[in-house]
Amino acid sequence: MNILIVGAGLYGAVLARALAEKGHHIHIIEQRDHIAGNCFDEINKYGIRVHRYGPHIFHTANEFVIDYVKRFADWHAYRHQVRAILADGTLVPLPVNRETLRHVPKERVIDIFFRPYTLKMWGVPLEELDPSILARVPIDPDAPDDYFPKDPFVGFPIGGYTAFVEEILRHPNITIALQTLYRRGVEEAFDYCFNAMPIDAFFEFDLGRLPYRSIKFHTIDVPVARLLTHPVVNFTDDGPMTRVTEWKNFPGHGAVTAWTSLTFEEPCADHENAFERYYPVKDRDGENRALYKRYHARVPARMRFIGRTGLYAYLDMHQAISSALALADEFHHK
Ligand code: UDP
Repeated sequence: MNILIVGAGLYGAVLARALAEKGHHIHIIEQRDHIAGNCFDEINKYGIRVHRYGPHIFHTANEFVIDYVKRFADWHAYRHQVRAILADGTLVPLPVNRETLRHVPKERVIDIFFRPYTLKMWGVPLEELDPSILARVPIDPDAPDDYFPKDPFVGFPIGGYTAFVEEILRHPNITIALQTLYRRGVEEAFDYCFNAMPIDAFFEFDLGRLPYRSIKFHTIDVPVARLLTHPVVNFTDDGPMTRVTEWKNFPGHGAVTAWTSLTFEEPCADHENAFERYYPVKDRDGENRALYKRYHARVPARMRFIGRTGLYAYLDMHQAISSALALADEFHHK
């Protein structure tokens, strides 16, 4: 079949590759001037690798996904450790474990580590969010000093995510047009369309907008070798930044000693940041999901929505990959 994919992010790229390997011909259109979606990374003028849309740490327990990603890159082995900074400047482990609890009494944990962070991150009190969001960061005295303790595979592609996605897309049956907006009806020249654009944008928002949280990134370059003890430090104060990443502290992100680059994250509503959509908002009552379903019910035949904004789902990279591979199998055998 001749297949159109809207969006050259990780989901679209993995799907394109899988379908191309099954003999289909894939054309991808991408609005931005680069591939790799929000895991796009680049090397700055100091030789430091920066992820343009915020830190992406690949982690999974899925053996099939581990084998898959190793086909397209070699990987820097890594264990992710995060610190939270308390009001007095003490750095303590996150997720909360026994060491953290030496500094903060158990009954204060939610108020110190989760309440202010979640309010600035999501713009609503934590009670209004679906519990699955906070469950990403469990509280367990016996937890090791490890942000992804259940994932045997944690790391970064050697050469970066952009090169990793480029490898996935390198196939004779795949063509890509960058800086190409979706235009109504382009899919008619194809047998099928997988669409990673925001589903509400496809319908011109006629039922209303699906809300997203966005992030304003503030990057500073400092002429010293290193500033932080860890790659990521989360803030416990009440505003406006959630966390800071010191890029060089990730393996393979730069060996220069004269400079270091750090990115602070300031969350905001999507409309405060030119509708750069990062996080779908999973409210406890499921109102946003219900709106998504009303859009979804109107998706034309021979079109299927994919990816974070097409599915309106908080997908980690490993989930995007496993979902795309399953979808390619399902589609091919239909
Ligand atoms: N969270 C928090 N305090 C923290 C870290 C996380 O309250 O120090 C909450 C917050 O609501 C956040 C969610 O847990 O959005 C998930 O955190 P995670 O680190 O998984 O977010 P991501 O890295 O995907 O932005």
